[in-house]
Amino acid sequence: MPSLFNMPITKLKKIGEKKAELYARLGIYSVGDLVRFYPRTYEDWSKPYKIAEAPENTVCCVGGYVEHLSRPARIKGGMTILKLTVCDGMDRMTVTFFNQHYLYDRFSSGGDFLFYGMLKKNGYYYDMTSPAVSDMQKAGIHPIYPQTAGLPSRQIEDAAAQAMRLLPEKMNDPLPENIRKAYDLCSLDFAIRSIHFPKSLEDVETARKRLSFEELLVLQLGMARLKSGRKEISAAVNTIKTDYTEEFFSMLPFEPTGAQKRAVSECIKDMSSGRVPMNRLIQGDVGSGKTAVAAAVCYSAVKNNMQCAFMAPTEILAVQHYNSLRELLEGCGIRVGLLTGSVKLSEKRRICTGLENGEIDLIIGTHALISDSVSFRQLGLVITDEQHRFGVAQRSALISKGQSPHIMVMSATPIPRTLALMIFGDLDLSVLDELPPGRQKVDTFLIDSAKRFRAFGFLKKHIDDGEQCYIVCPLVGQSEMELESAEEYIEKLKVTPLRDCRTGLLHGKMKAKDKEQVMEDFSEGRIDVLVSTTVIEVGVDVPNSTIMMIENAERFGLSQLHQLRGRVGRGKKKSYCILVSDHQGEVTRQRLMVMCKTNDGFKIADEDLRLRGPGDFFGSRQHGLPELKVASMSGMEIMEQTQTAASEILHDDPLLEKKEHRGLSFETKRLFAKTGSEQLQ
Ligand code: ADP
Ligand code: MG
Repeated sequence: MPSLFNMPITKLKKIGEKKAELYARLGIYSVGDLVRFYPRTYEDWSKPYKIAEAPENTVCCVGGYVEHLSRPARIKGGMTILKLTVCDGMDRMTVTFFNQHYLYDRFSSGGDFLFYGMLKKNGYYYDMTSPAVSDMQKAGIHPIYPQTAGLPSRQIEDAAAQAMRLLPEKMNDPLPENIRKAYDLCSLDFAIRSIHFPKSLEDVETARKRLSFEELLVLQLGMARLKSGRKEISAAVNTIKTDYTEEFFSMLPFEPTGAQKRAVSECIKDMSSGRVPMNRLIQGDVGSGKTAVAAAVCYSAVKNNMQCAFMAPTEILAVQHYNSLRELLEGCGIRVGLLTGSVKLSEKRRICTGLENGEIDLIIGTHALISDSVSFRQLGLVITDEQHRFGVAQRSALISKGQSPHIMVMSATPIPRTLALMIFGDLDLSVLDELPPGRQKVDTFLIDSAKRFRAFGFLKKHIDDGEQCYIVCPLVGQSEMELESAEEYIEKLKVTPLRDCRTGLLHGKMKAKDKEQVMEDFSEGRIDVLVSTTVIEVGVDVPNSTIMMIENAERFGLSQLHQLRGRVGRGKKKSYCILVSDHQGEVTRQRLMVMCKTNDGFKIADEDLRLRGPGDFFGSRQHGLPELKVASMSGMEIMEQTQTAASEILHDDPLLEKKEHRGLSFETKRLFAKTGSEQLQ
């Protein structure tokens, strides 16, 4: 629909410049954008209930005529009240409106109406307050759009209806016919019309299936193009000529696992090709030893005259990586530096000079690394840790500081393979699927709050043995409440078996310096119980801590719980994880029980996907993916189907040049245009 995408939204009736600004807030600039702006949900006005048959306390549509209508009356606070009795021929309900006295005229002219609201029942007395009203003729399914202030769904609906009339008679369908046949998908025309104005809820499903198929297919084709479209490196800069991995491994205090060796050699191979730069994701469970893999690759890179930059999402993590990488590398003559927001100005200057003239080989830091004042002599390798926290833009800002440097992304969130291929489709994948020997299972229990007191006793016993514990405390929704709830929690501990323990508090609103102080106190054993919000989620390594207690565990995704649990079981002592939850829902219990049954992050991710669907992975946009509109509602089956379809199409027509793939090629460019991926021009 290229032409509609060039038609500004103001071409529609009742949309002027002012309204257009509101539409812009929703990302809608053209009529085509509106056509591809899908409803969030629907109101079913198509089958109105009889009053007596309507479900109680559920929003639904009831039909009837106005039997009695009283004049609007003023009540306190300057409000008006309008009351009417609605009859469906058998039963009656009272309907009350506040401040909608203008409805009086509408009702007084008589006729049948539909009322969409919540019906309350009190004996034989039915009533409904402030329902939405419509004429009987307008029965149907109404789309409900994501809204913004000043732009109610009904207005968007009206605009969408206008847009539908502008749709061409014969819409170009990006999905080739053979694909539509093979996967039983409806036409684009039907899908677009039905997603906005469905005749039935089944039509919505049919439309959604087709639209998410298209979206996922386009996503994967785009990813594949990103991957194959990587620029060749000029000359032989940043090419590994000699592999120093053996030398590095021989200096390690431990024997690397098979998985670590494999991952390192995959990286070295990428970096030795002398053609395209490496672009690789290292995925490994917590504790699988990703840091050593990074160190090994840095070692060879530096020995081949490259500088390396390692970016971590938080200051705590950057400092920790700095310490562990320095320990591994400085003995081998590699000069390591740290650059974060809280490094002193004079030190910052020294670091920047060092990077510029090549005196620093490996710099570790936070976002501070992408500031303008940082430049490198020969940046050859960029590593980002915990990739999902960085947007594409931040990654590319760092990358642009080198001449097509190699890229290594480390993710500690195991993701099911199907999803990884989709989300990180532009990256090659190395999986660390083997833990170093001697790791023990963290025993995990699910308890309800009635057992909390006993759990504290359990913590106390271990603290008396010189061990340390984490408590991840309840999140109170808004982050402003974060501090308060954590402080309150510590206060409450004073009447528990933990009353005499040394407690510390860690939360997201603390200054970096204070956070570091608390972390240091904890790692040096001056704190027994660290009460924290989820800031400890990533990376933190204190081997003497043996218990992780998580309050309101149901509020976390499984992957996040797994991540948190990974903070314990890092030393020699037996470790435990206690999940506290009073949630009784079947799916929730099932989800939490997965944690008790397995310690394998990949299995946990699979279960999470199975139980909750891919919405969490796609929805948060934290992967720097283009925005997906319907795919987050789709199931595993469609994801797998689109994978097959994408590889078939690309096998047949790698550059999407064939006539029947022109639409797909167009959509691919459009989807990726918004992420700033210039490669896809
Ligand atoms: P993660 O993959 O979670 O980042 P780390 O790199 O922090 O894991 O490694 C966890 C711990 O395991 C570290 O203390 C590290 O020194 C140790 N380690 C890494 N690889 C091995 C190995 N092959 N054998 C024994 N210990 C290892
Ligand atoms: Mg790590």
